[in-house]
Amino acid sequence: MISFPPPSRLKKSTTTVKPNLHQIRSDFPILSQKVYGKDIVYFDNAATTQKPKQVIEAILNFYSNTNSNIHRGVHYLSEKSTEAYENARKTVQAYIGAKHLHEIVFTAGTTAGINAVAFSFGERFVKADDEILITHMEHHANIVPWQMLAERKGAKLKVAPINQNGELILDELEKLFTPKTKILAISQVSNSLGTVNPIKEIIQIAHDKGIPVLVDGAQAIQHGKVDVQDLNADFYVFSGHKIYGPTGIGVLYGKEKWLEQMPPYQGGGDMIKHVTFEKTTYNELPFKFEAGTINYVGAVGLDAAIEYVESIGLEFIESYEKELLTYATEKLLRIDGLRIFGTAKNKIAVTSFLLEGIHQFDVGMVLDKMGIAVRTGTHCTEPIMTFFGIDGTVRPSYAFYNTFEEIDQLAEALVKIKVMFG
Ligand code: PLP
Repeated sequence: MISFPPPSRLKKSTTTVKPNLHQIRSDFPILSQKVYGKDIVYFDNAATTQKPKQVIEAILNFYSNTNSNIHRGVHYLSEKSTEAYENARKTVQAYIGAKHLHEIVFTAGTTAGINAVAFSFGERFVKADDEILITHMEHHANIVPWQMLAERKGAKLKVAPINQNGELILDELEKLFTPKTKILAISQVSNSLGTVNPIKEIIQIAHDKGIPVLVDGAQAIQHGKVDVQDLNADFYVFSGHKIYGPTGIGVLYGKEKWLEQMPPYQGGGDMIKHVTFEKTTYNELPFKFEAGTINYVGAVGLDAAIEYVESIGLEFIESYEKELLTYATEKLLRIDGLRIFGTAKNKIAVTSFLLEGIHQFDVGMVLDKMGIAVRTGTHCTEPIMTFFGIDGTVRPSYAFYNTFEEIDQLAEALVKIKVMFG
């Protein structure tokens, strides 16, 4: 079961109307494109999602009618821009259930958010001999910033293990917490295996030991309801481009109590109250963490993307993508010599696989020529590949605009590839 359990304080909607898939697909102009003369099948959604015209139009409209730098001017356009930007913050706050508006910091994306916390939290709370805990299934973005922090401070990076299904071994994770552990940084969903971690339970375990948790939500936010208060996450980061929004914008949610205590990690315009050559005083939250001209147009696009996702309905997205996953898994496993990596009980719609005897790049390149876009390689998770003793996988990842027919096409293409490669 894919469980993004409905947050206890949210009522389940009883009025969901099943959206029309044809209508949904027509919202995404890129999906009507042909590549090499064939209708494109876009199965690289874990890398980035395509954008509905509602998002594209919001950006076009903003540049055409509203654009001006935010927070700086008293003139009409500047005020309109600022209003649109701050409305986007409200939309994000509501979408992830943050208690305070000032707990929403706009960043360039997940990577930027994790780096911000690793630097700023690290400056304030991590010292020599302390420990930082991550897991074996992290994206490089949730490994390297912590490694850099550990090197800077003389701290130690510890890694919680996974099993052959690509699931975290919770008992082992628990054993790794010590009085020296300063933070646990963990993905809610693995990008290469699809594993959904029992993140609420893990946060509870960490909190019982007084340890704060950063959740990398890059692969979770687009697949189901996330409520940061229900999860009790200390930090939650995600990227706009993975949730049908533009690139270059992302969100760092942090509990007020942490953000208040953390120093800014970048200096510049907008993050200050007063500057003299002797001393600078910093702005309040969230602006303390938003130095320089933020990608405010990106934030407007993200606002439109969240509105779009909500119009489709998270319940529909979750249940339809689950059907796609079940169908794709069954179809792919019927192909002789195909092995799926990532067989967790609780998964999102990702089916990383290898075809015996055929290199993943060859599979990806031939699929491309057949009009099917998949990701190949390590998916920025080299340690996972090392764990399985492989150098990469082919990774189709599915979104709510994909169809069962497209999965049939993928399966048929793979059978042809097997024949081609003998
Ligand atoms: N974390 C996970 C789990 C991801 O899947 C990704 C991107 O694929 C990232 C972090 C990095 O996201 P971005 O490149 O948008 O900063």
